[in-house]
Amino acid sequence: HHHIDHASPEKVEAAIAAGQTHAHLPDYETLAVYRESGGYQALAELRRGGDWEAVQQSLSDAGLRGLGGAGFPSGKKWGFVRANAGPRYLAVNGDEGEPGTFKDRYYLERVPHLFLEGMLIAAWAVEAERCYIYMRDEYPAVLEILRREIAALEAAGLVAPGYIDLRRGAGAYICGEESAMIESIEGKRGLPRHRPPFVAQVGLFGRPTLVHNVETLHWVARICREGPECLGDTEHNGRKGLRSYSVSGRVAAPGVYLLPAGSTITDVIAAAGGMAEGHVFKAFQPGGPSSGLLPASMADVPLDFDTLQPLGTFIGSAAVVVLSDQDRARDAALNMLRFFEDESCGQCTPCRVGCQKAVALMEKDTWDQPLLEELCEVMGDASICGLGQAAPNPIRLVMQHFGEEI
Ligand code: SF4
Repeated sequence: HHHIDHASPEKVEAAIAAGQTHAHLPDYETLAVYRESGGYQALAELRRGGDWEAVQQSLSDAGLRGLGGAGFPSGKKWGFVRANAGPRYLAVNGDEGEPGTFKDRYYLERVPHLFLEGMLIAAWAVEAERCYIYMRDEYPAVLEILRREIAALEAAGLVAPGYIDLRRGAGAYICGEESAMIESIEGKRGLPRHRPPFVAQVGLFGRPTLVHNVETLHWVARICREGPECLGDTEHNGRKGLRSYSVSGRVAAPGVYLLPAGSTITDVIAAAGGMAEGHVFKAFQPGGPSSGLLPASMADVPLDFDTLQPLGTFIGSAAVVVLSDQDRARDAALNMLRFFEDESCGQCTPCRVGCQKAVALMEKDTWDQPLLEELCEVMGDASICGLGQAAPNPIRLVMQHFGEEI
């Protein structure tokens, strides 16, 4: 329930008449500035006769994996999409609806052309007929920046008019799920599809579709411009690469921090200025609400793809929320389940009804743990998509680590 400062209609009209269609546009790197530093040369060279498999090899040398949450090796995806006959499409997932995640916005509001060049390189690699950008409508500044800069790209002759189609998401969390996003771009309700077939085979309008997250494409451009070392040469706790952690909660300086992949929560909190004054570290959400909560005793675990799996969680989009001695883990978990209950698309019973039942059970002073465990099992086994499958994580992790609260 935020306070919204509504401008009067007269003020808005006056601003539009004066050409100020957006009052709060941040300073960002425009096309002209980006090109001065060699921007779009990598794309031009590739289009002149580059070898897509060489670029694919660079991505794999850099260890680039999908940064929207799933962590699938990015170069491999290109191969899967190319294996299917064209026409093919590229769809960018810019929905960034995972609570606590704001890294895509961070990069788009500063260096939008790294993303746009990365997108055009990926589109070139899979010979995409068209690029669709599905952008979160809650990011008005980003939308305005993209509108301006896509127009600038068209004016500069770097893309054909209409080649990039900018679409606005309308605020449904489930539309960040890639097949629901595709349904939404097609103009339908955002209901996740059954798999197989995968979107690399049957995606947008029934065509093979390459789906990438915004930050993944940002790194595609950087790898092509600077070489795979820019991402792959960092090593920490036995993990390779860098990760953009979105850090919020009880820390002194919430924000996006680019740290070595495999940083521990101790490293992440230190980067964010330490704990907020008067707060003692108690627990953390490692990667969005679907990842649940881990206790402070796990402060030495590297936060990277794969490393959290044995603990019943995952790093996802690296949306870290830090809780303190002033928070209860059970309240945070209930909040997560209420969110899933609201955002469930309602298509399948284990998720639609399961989230409701879980919320009711978690609102009780004492949790019926055997019943909750049974419910978690059904939701995990029988839900169609990741929302319902991962919704039990917060419940299970609270039962495992914060038993004294429930
Ligand atoms: Fe919809 Fe939930 Fe089923 Fe996913 S798991 S398809 S969000 S009802």
